[in-house]
Amino acid sequence: MATKTLDAPLETQLWIGGKKTKSSTGKAFPVTNPATGEVIAKVAEGGAQDVDLAVKAALRAAEGPWGKMSPRQRARVLFNVAARVRDAAEELAQLETKNTGKTLADSRDEAAGVADTLEYYAGAVSKYFGETIPVGNPGLEFTLRQPVGVCALIVPWNYPMTITTWKLAPALACGNTVVIKPASWTPLSALRLAELCAEGGVPEGVVNVVAGPGGVVGEGLASHPLVRKISFTGETGTGARITKAAADSIKRVSLELGGKSPNIVFDDADLDLCVEKSIGSVFGNAGQDCCARSRAIVHHKIYDKFLADITARTKKMVVGDPLSKGTEMGPMISLKQRDSVRGHVELGQKEGARLTCGAEALPSGLPKAGAYIRPAVFADAKPKMKVVQEEIFGPVLCVLPFKTEEEAVALANDSPYGLSGSLWTRDVGRALRVAKAVQTGNMSVNSSTSVYLEAPFGGFKTSGLGRELGMKAMDLYSEVKSVFISEA
Ligand code: NAD
Repeated sequence: MATKTLDAPLETQLWIGGKKTKSSTGKAFPVTNPATGEVIAKVAEGGAQDVDLAVKAALRAAEGPWGKMSPRQRARVLFNVAARVRDAAEELAQLETKNTGKTLADSRDEAAGVADTLEYYAGAVSKYFGETIPVGNPGLEFTLRQPVGVCALIVPWNYPMTITTWKLAPALACGNTVVIKPASWTPLSALRLAELCAEGGVPEGVVNVVAGPGGVVGEGLASHPLVRKISFTGETGTGARITKAAADSIKRVSLELGGKSPNIVFDDADLDLCVEKSIGSVFGNAGQDCCARSRAIVHHKIYDKFLADITARTKKMVVGDPLSKGTEMGPMISLKQRDSVRGHVELGQKEGARLTCGAEALPSGLPKAGAYIRPAVFADAKPKMKVVQEEIFGPVLCVLPFKTEEEAVALANDSPYGLSGSLWTRDVGRALRVAKAVQTGNMSVNSSTSVYLEAPFGGFKTSGLGRELGMKAMDLYSEVKSVFISEA
């Protein structure tokens, strides 16, 4: 795939068995740049036959050189792929920004993160092992970690190359083979990553990419009898459908799903720091972030000040061309998603929440077909309002007051979701109590960052099943085998 320039739309094919492969459907779907509305690629659309072809290629590869490689060789291949990604980082970043509308600075960070992730799991290959266990009979009881088999990696559009790699790197480190199903809005970086894997020495058929509709390709993978594991990131409803489709063949399923994360601000917080970081944690990636701290739960004594400061800072946010230096927020992924956010803003107003900003005009000169929107803040939001309960997946913050620590925790937990959260206080005891009491998989204290490559990430309640990242991710992609050797 020639991705150095995008002067003319790219024409991509599927990636199966280590090479570009024509789709059995003969169809292609357009992929647009959300900043301009231009078609930047025509992507071959996979169908059921292609899913089958890719799964069988992956199965053959598991039985071929990949399956026979020593762990040390496998690690070396992953380090090689990481080096290829570092060489191609600027190209990947440009491609991702053109496909998603995220700022170039963010895409550059993500491209570096892809290489970091591959390196981390290359290192993990030699540090993930079984144990010896004392048992009742004389002999040796020990455990082995073995690959699961063919893994289907189903990826959303908000962090395409990052989330692809969060799944791909540990899956390969554990010796599996994969079929990647990218989101239809953003298939380009996954196709490019598959090429970089091949250049780095990953044998043919180990990594396959089939783009196409979720209901056909995604569901086809979830129900395919030869797929042993589904790793999915996306909406909670889609996760439930996938789990049902995977049930008949008892696949291993891990899910990273939606969120509506709380940001609890106590009256002793460093307010300037908190406001600045809160802006990033709710409006970063144009709010299209499963961890977005979209519910600010603020102590009543500092509520007015927090609201005034965050509104003033939000009004100053630079929304514009994601390729321009200084842009803080690019467009959303699509006009459809932008309009869905506009609908939520109208709904919030109808429900009685007070919009303190978000209705300002966009800078002139932005393309009309670009999916731009100003970030919005709602004051006086009530816990049961739809804008407070539902994941909007766009740049909308709801601010709610609280009086006591117990009330703050109850408000934070009044959600079907449980992915992430932040809390701001200088009281260590309170920080610990609240971090423990909030029902989410990740919490950050005096920081808005709770996702680290080296630490587990995942959700409570309807936000997911299993933990990605860190060494915990290796558990998702391996089977434990118990072996007993008798002394007798
Ligand atoms: P989505 O569920 O619509 O799609 C995700 C992927 O699933 C896409 O590749 C899609 O084509 C595929 N898909 C759709 N229908 C399918 C089906 N019936 N069977 C199998 N696959 C199917 O999600 P999205 O709109 O791409 O992403 C946004 C959602 O993802 C948000 O809810 C967000 O919170 C969530 N998300 C969660 C995390 C996390 O780590 N918890 C990270 C990023 C995004």
